[in-house]
Amino acid sequence: MPDASSWIVLKFGGTSVSTPDRWKTIAHIARRYRDDGVRPLLVCSALSGISDKLEMLADPDAEAAPDDVLAAIRTQHLELAERIGVDGETTLGASFAVLEERVEAVNASGRIHPQQHAEILAMGELMSTRLGSAFLATQGLTPHWMDAREVLRAEDEAHVAPARRYLSATCAAYPDGVLQNHLDGQDADVFITQGFIASNPVGETVLLGRGGSDTSAAYFAAKLEAERLEIWTDVPGMFTSNPRDIPSARLLRQLTYAEAQELATMGATVLHPRCLAPVRRYQIPLHVRSTDAPDLEGTVVSDAVPHDGPEVKAISSKDGVTVVSMETLGMWQQVGFLADVFQIFKHHGLSVDLVATSEANVTVTLDPMANALDPDVLDRLLHDLSAYCEPKIIESCAVVSLVGRHIRSMLHELGPAFEVFDEQNVHLVSQAASDLNFGFVVDEDQAERLVRQLHRQLFATRAPDATFGPSWQELFDAEPSKTSGAWWRDRRDELLSIVKASGEPSYVYDEDTLRRNARHVRRLGALDRTYYAVKANPHPRVLEILANEGIAFECVSPGEVQRVREVLPDLPADRILFQPNFAAIHEYADAFDEGVHVTLDNVEPLARHPEVFAEQDLFVRVDPGRGHGHHRHVRTAGAQSKFGIVPDELPRLRRLANQCNCTVRGLHVHVGSGITDAGTWPDIAGFLASLAADFPNVRTLNVGGGLGVPERPNATPLDLGILDKRLSEFKQQHAYDLWMEPGRFLVAEAGVMLAPVTQTKSKGSVHYVGLGTGMNSLIRPALYGSYHEIVNLSRLGEPLSMTADVVGPICESGDVLGRSRRLPDTMPGDIILIATAGAYGASMSNHYNLRTPARETILETVSA
Ligand SMILES: *Cc1c(COP(=O)(O)O)cnc(C)c1O
Repeated sequence: MPDASSWIVLKFGGTSVSTPDRWKTIAHIARRYRDDGVRPLLVCSALSGISDKLEMLADPDAEAAPDDVLAAIRTQHLELAERIGVDGETTLGASFAVLEERVEAVNASGRIHPQQHAEILAMGELMSTRLGSAFLATQGLTPHWMDAREVLRAEDEAHVAPARRYLSATCAAYPDGVLQNHLDGQDADVFITQGFIASNPVGETVLLGRGGSDTSAAYFAAKLEAERLEIWTDVPGMFTSNPRDIPSARLLRQLTYAEAQELATMGATVLHPRCLAPVRRYQIPLHVRSTDAPDLEGTVVSDAVPHDGPEVKAISSKDGVTVVSMETLGMWQQVGFLADVFQIFKHHGLSVDLVATSEANVTVTLDPMANALDPDVLDRLLHDLSAYCEPKIIESCAVVSLVGRHIRSMLHELGPAFEVFDEQNVHLVSQAASDLNFGFVVDEDQAERLVRQLHRQLFATRAPDATFGPSWQELFDAEPSKTSGAWWRDRRDELLSIVKASGEPSYVYDEDTLRRNARHVRRLGALDRTYYAVKANPHPRVLEILANEGIAFECVSPGEVQRVREVLPDLPADRILFQPNFAAIHEYADAFDEGVHVTLDNVEPLARHPEVFAEQDLFVRVDPGRGHGHHRHVRTAGAQSKFGIVPDELPRLRRLANQCNCTVRGLHVHVGSGITDAGTWPDIAGFLASLAADFPNVRTLNVGGGLGVPERPNATPLDLGILDKRLSEFKQQHAYDLWMEPGRFLVAEAGVMLAPVTQTKSKGSVHYVGLGTGMNSLIRPALYGSYHEIVNLSRLGEPLSMTADVVGPICESGDVLGRSRRLPDTMPGDIILIATAGAYGASMSNHYNLRTPARETILETVSA
């Protein structure tokens, strides 16, 4: 017998109990827990659509004939019974009879008491669990069916209206030793009971209100002191916004109870807000998961979430909100004003949600969920309020809420997000006292657009991490590989044979793609010269091909200069640009001897070693004071960066250069990596031109690299057309030569990394696919949280059936190449492809753990 405390409570909603496939999934999950020595308690809803039909039966005024509705309910259950191999009449015959009796009683009297209503509705859950129990018994399990009404007791609320007492009851939930002992004594390995229903202190059936099944499950979890509560629904967790409206919404992998509560309250429908309090009180982790994608980890709600600073986690919106604005006609400072007006709301039975006050105005919102807002009520409210103020009602509003942690302390960072409100009419701004929520009340028809824009600004480019998982699109888009340049689909057989031949992980570079990328850049007519940032990928063949395409080379170390010299002995020195950072002084001296261009990004070497710079030509790297780029570590300009000279120091540099007869020929800015805003470089050109006015010998402006490449499906690529147009406009007004120095843009898409699967593993709910190499070959995901598309090349085109973290063999928990990736059924020996790996892949590889990084192979040209 498993030990008494090992319970897991799983709630399955209507869609999860309505088809044979889903029931098979449920049986599979139950068996897995049983095999792990845990006792699963399944808390089930009624079949899809059944509760609505029962509502019709409970409404004596309903249009549909009760007999037709009863027949439909019967048919739906019997059909499912047949499909799951259960004898429906035997299992449910008695329930059908009870239901018919109850409906007859209602029809006979023509009225219905809330108690009868509750009893009719309860039949839905009672029937679905009877069926489920019978099915589980056919699946090698020993189920124990339990009537939830014998366990969940509603609180005594004699003073409350009957409708509420019977149809929206609440229960106390505390660890229940009697129940635990009773269940421990049962000879069963899976337990099944109903959501939504309970009984009152005199034993009558009551309902737990909307979303009641989630709440039931939470009560059971508390009573059994469960290890965890799993809410299984048709969406795999909570998202940064409603994924049905915003497909780029990101899965929230973890949330605190308070955050989940806030999100559920502010409009996320996956989870009912009432279910959080019981699990929070007993610190029971809550997992939100989907029967559609049972292997997906979903959202974990617990307080074990690291609290690392302020953060917006999600944006939600709630429609149908009514705003009441009250101009106070100079009555402010009058004692009791607020008390008086709120008394009026109370008098009309209206519950106020958000409140904002100023000297001359009080504005509140009325939540449609909590209020019955018919026009009469509002008219009477207006009338009564007019005695104290000038009231105005604005209907059809929406509350758009930012939900997260310590939002107050990060408002300044949200600046750009607020720009979208410029032209909007914001009726009210509210900040929850808990600091978990920041809300705006706007017109309903504006809400969706606002949510979309805010979502784009706040989440679109966020790297995946422990909190922000893949987007809905990435999880469920059947169409794979939307990153451009997927040349590897066409050359799949060649790629597979490369790895099969050696059995070793390998980078593969495609010559054609490399050449095509080089031609894209060379077509930028505004550029006078393009230098390739060699650090992105110094493979000899890459250098050769780029040189053939007329590209020059930017080097950041003597080693890179030497590599270029060796591979391209005939290359004129003029086509090498040496721009190191914190380099030893002799490196500058050697570079001048070689005759290559040199960029200096610090004044000190010039001050301390004027002899090295005397009579030389020099480029100067300036720090424009603001960085761009996809990650903190690759932002190379801005106050926190070690690169460049701030403009304030340029006068000193000019004096020192003059003193030793060193001529400043060019100015340079490189602001970061992975930039897709085409306006970046024209802006830099303008900035450099303004500085160049003080340098009479400057002829060249080097606007740097950092040209971004789409890494995620659906990412917007850099628009080279706009870039060229804007740079050309600049050139028409300025006589400077323009240089650029892209690295990633030329090589990223031309390279992939291939690695065989070594092992797979499931730990808890997380699946792992292990590769023969990891961060020793490709460190970008670990270092920057970079995203690389990952596919199972051996099984390209097979249905994506599992979700896994793709990891390497390095002894570091950060050795993860991709999290929560959708893959086909993946086996050891399969070959996995990591896309967009041609830049900063092999060049950043290392021998950590004394594991040899992936080798490199060139795929030769097929077309001329
Ligand atoms: C790395 C680097 C580049 C190239 O950056 P990409 O993002 O690969 O285009 C260009 N210039 C300088 C100074 C660099 O350090």
